[in-house]
Amino acid sequence: MDHWYHGLQTRRTRFNHPIEQNPGQRSKPIESLLLEDLSLLIDLHKDGERQGPGGDDETRLAIALSGLGARSQLQVADIGCGTGASTLVLAKALDARITAVDVLPEFLQRLDAAARREKFGARIKTQVASMEALPFAAQSLDAVWSEGAVYNMGFASGIRAWRRFLKPGGILAVSELTWLTQQRPQALEAHWKAQYPEVGTAAEKMALLERSGFSPVGYFVLPPRCWLENYYRPLQARFADFLSRNQNLPAAAAIVAAEEQEVALFERYREYFGYGYYVAKRAGD
Ligand code: SAH
Repeated sequence: MDHWYHGLQTRRTRFNHPIEQNPGQRSKPIESLLLEDLSLLIDLHKDGERQGPGGDDETRLAIALSGLGARSQLQVADIGCGTGASTLVLAKALDARITAVDVLPEFLQRLDAAARREKFGARIKTQVASMEALPFAAQSLDAVWSEGAVYNMGFASGIRAWRRFLKPGGILAVSELTWLTQQRPQALEAHWKAQYPEVGTAAEKMALLERSGFSPVGYFVLPPRCWLENYYRPLQARFADFLSRNQNLPAAAAIVAAEEQEVALFERYREYFGYGYYVAKRAGD
């Protein structure tokens, strides 16, 4: 997940949702970060295979649920792709041309290099753009993919804004912070309500999809392995080098401390929240 850069002005950040420090204060968009903090976050995260929880098997599961494998010459967008873990899986699994969009060129350069290495250069095109102003024509895409990124504009706004780019019957696949139970510890509830007010249960997210012109076709929860083995452990393994190459700057140390807090939050409360993976079809045309 990743509100990593949110709230950086208060130096409490992480790649994901920020650790609560000013309850009630909404996370800030990436554009409002201090340059020093943004540079440090890029430095910490650009060497990661992922910039949020996820897994190749889980991307493949979502692809299987989508039914896209049976179709050819697809046009796909991967929004907030980071260094492109999901983009590469999509390229392997589908007969598709993929436009991989992120606001940070440093991440896209990593994806470009990986795409060349894996001989997908002709089918993966990277594009620096904001997810709020995407450069696609109406009804031009067979699928819009987005893992751990739609929270940047909010789930409700994101799914509504992106729907228009889909052909009728086109697929939307997004992973999103989700409550896994009806009841949860008050401290956890307060934390997420402050940091990402749109946090909700799967039933609430599905209802939003239905109200926004989508027909849900599949849902699953990312297993803890997607957080721990695939994201947090590799991130933690980069901390020492990150601190030393940045001369233990206070801002760098603050980022590491905030990331550690985020890991601790997940380890403590993982029965109550996670990432839901939602696959839906554009309906209602
Ligand atoms: N999908 C990737 C990255 C998730 S982290 C993965 O799962 O590994 C969230 C990503 O959203 C980051 O790469 C960040 O640069 C990008 N992002 C943040 N705000 C954005 C915006 N307004 N437009 C496009 N991308 C944005």
